[in-house]
Parts: sequence; structure tokens; C-alpha cells
Amino acid sequence: MDSKEAMPLDGLCTRCIGRIFASEGHGLTNHQRGESFIESQSQNGIEISVVKETECRICQGIFQSAETYSTEISRRLSSYEYAGFTIGCTFSEETIEMESSIQASFGSKGESIKKEFNREIGKLIEQHTGKSFQKDDPDIMIKVDTRYMSMDFQVKSLFVYGTYRKYSRDMPQTRWIKYTEKKDTIESIIGEILNSLTGGDAYFLHGAGREDVDVRMLGNGREFIIESCNPKQRSIDLDKLGKMVNSSGKNVEIQDLSFTTRDKVRILKEEKHSKIYLATVVADKDIDKEAFLKSLEAINGKVIYQRTPLRVSTSRSDLVRERMVFGITMENLQGNTATLRIEAEAGVYIKELVSGDRGRTNPNLSDVSGMDLTISELDVIEIKR
Ligand SMILES: [Zn+2]
Repeated sequence: MDSKEAMPLDGLCTRCIGRIFASEGHGLTNHQRGESFIESQSQNGIEISVVKETECRICQGIFQSAETYSTEISRRLSSYEYAGFTIGCTFSEETIEMESSIQASFGSKGESIKKEFNREIGKLIEQHTGKSFQKDDPDIMIKVDTRYMSMDFQVKSLFVYGTYRKYSRDMPQTRWIKYTEKKDTIESIIGEILNSLTGGDAYFLHGAGREDVDVRMLGNGREFIIESCNPKQRSIDLDKLGKMVNSSGKNVEIQDLSFTTRDKVRILKEEKHSKIYLATVVADKDIDKEAFLKSLEAINGKVIYQRTPLRVSTSRSDLVRERMVFGITMENLQGNTATLRIEAEAGVYIKELVSGDRGRTNPNLSDVSGMDLTISELDVIEIKR
């Protein structure tokens, strides 16, 4: 190598020179690689003008701050419960480009400054905290931006699976963005209590479908996964969580709790289960039992065609769904009010099956019975799963 080729190395420190050859000489630090390269060049009569790390064009002495970074990070980590961590560092584009063009002129056999800095801080954090670097799905991702000397944590959410029952006819499953009114939701009741145990700062409820605000969810309950964001505690007592929610007097009960993972949310949301409902149906006149039972037969075991109901058509695309009503029986009748037990495929709009939704559901119970029927009360009493 003549002195012209060695030119790109001017203004670099020993460590950054060594990093150019990182894939060679295993078991050496970059600093050691740098020393041995400089020495071998010197023996060939080529003198490289090495600078101190603080004057280095690439690293600008950042490695001397590794202890400061790792001490501060370890201090902040101490308020979290976590199994392991990973680190990602950001350097300025100029630094990265300068480094890769210098390394390219030596055959791109080096490693990036990011990789070395991650490793150096990681080792120090391991020493300070006793926790290990966790490459896959770490509880905490530490993000260091060397441009601003800033550090941030991305804490993996904690996910808890369960089933809920809702005893209120005036409670949405999740918060309604469009209403500013502070109203209890299933999400807020479970989420607030969960975060009181995890120290999380936000929560989201992911339901396996949802019932209307005025529909009770009884029986075996509906599956959900609640997500606690930025949790400080992860190994919380789920029995305690259940007891706290169930004794809160908020008309929500949860059971079957277990820890789960983010990838289960999508699976849960894609589940399709048929359901059994109990519906209180009110007619515009007294109901004739025999005639009404015959009308039920026109729906029983039939495929129905439902256009997206008017009441939800602003939020869902208008299409016709083909769905099965597996069974419909009368449990009780008094004057103009009947109680029906309806078993239907996932996705049937039960209120519209009864009312007809101005002809958008066919067949429907109002048409086949020749009466104006509406549902005054509706409960989900079983989800078949
Ligand atoms: Zn350097």
C-alpha cells in the first residue's frame, strides 16, 4: 500500500482505524486491530497520522461518553421490571457516510460505529444492571441519539387475555373519540385497574368483536386482550386484577385471565363465533302466539340477507351480508311482548333481523309476522367457542 492509499486514514483515531478491519483478527478489540495495523504499516515505512479519539473525524470521542450514557440508562432502567433489553443508536448521517466511504476504500470489511457503540454501551449496562442483552422481542428497547445526547425507552406493552361480562345497558366497549363526555367503558374500567398494577401510562382493549352499548354481555363472556402501555411492572398478580375489577361495582366482570402476546391480538380479532341472544321483542299490537310461532319458522334455520344497517352505515361500508340464523325460539309471551332466544352466525345484526331495518334485512321478523317489531332489550347469553 502506498502513502496515497493510506490518505483516508488521516484524522482518525486508532479505534476507528481498527473498525475498518473488524471482520479480520477475531478476538481483538477494534483498538487492538487499529494498533496492529498502524504498526504493520509503520514497518512498511508508511506513517499514519493518528489522532486522539476526541479529535477523530468519525467518532469524535463518543466512546468516552459510553460510561455516562450507560450509567444514566441503568439509573432510568431501575424503575422498570424487565427480563432484558436491546439498544439502537443513531449517529448523524455525515458520520455514517464518512465512515462507510472510508471503509469502502478498504473493501468494506469493517463494522459500523453504531454496532460498536451499541455493543460497548450494552456491555456496560449489563454490568450495571445484571440484565442481559435480549435480541428478540426485548421488554425494553433503548434508543440513544448521539446527536442530541438523548435516550429513550420503548417499553414492550403488557398484554392480558381474558373474557368479560357486562351487566350494563349503557356502556360502550371502548372509548368514543367523538364524545368528550367522561364515561365508563369496559376498556377504561379494566385498563385503569390494570395500570394501577403495572404503572402503565395508557391502555387499549382489543375485543373479539363487540356488542352494542345497550346490549348486555352475559354467559361465558366475550374474549378480550387488554394492553398496558409502558408498564413498569410486568409480573402482576392476575387473580388480584380480576378481584379488583369484579369488586369495583362497575357492572363489568372479568375471568379466565392469562398473560399473552401482541401477535394474539390479530388472531383474537379475526375470530368468528356464532352467538346465542335473548331478545325482548315488542310489537305494535298484542302478539298471537300460534301465528307468531309460525312466523319464527320462516326465519328459523334460514339464510338471511342483511344490508349494512342504517344506524352503522356511516362507519361501515354498505354491503349485503349473507348470514345464517341457526335457531329462533320463543321463551315467553305476554301481551305485545315476547322473549326470543336466537342463535345466529357471527355478524348477524339481531336488532335489524327483528325490525327489518326498512327492508334492508330479508327475510325479517316484522315482515313475516305482519307486525312492527322492535327489540327493547338484548343480551348475548353465550358465545360459541
Ligand atoms: Zn474515532
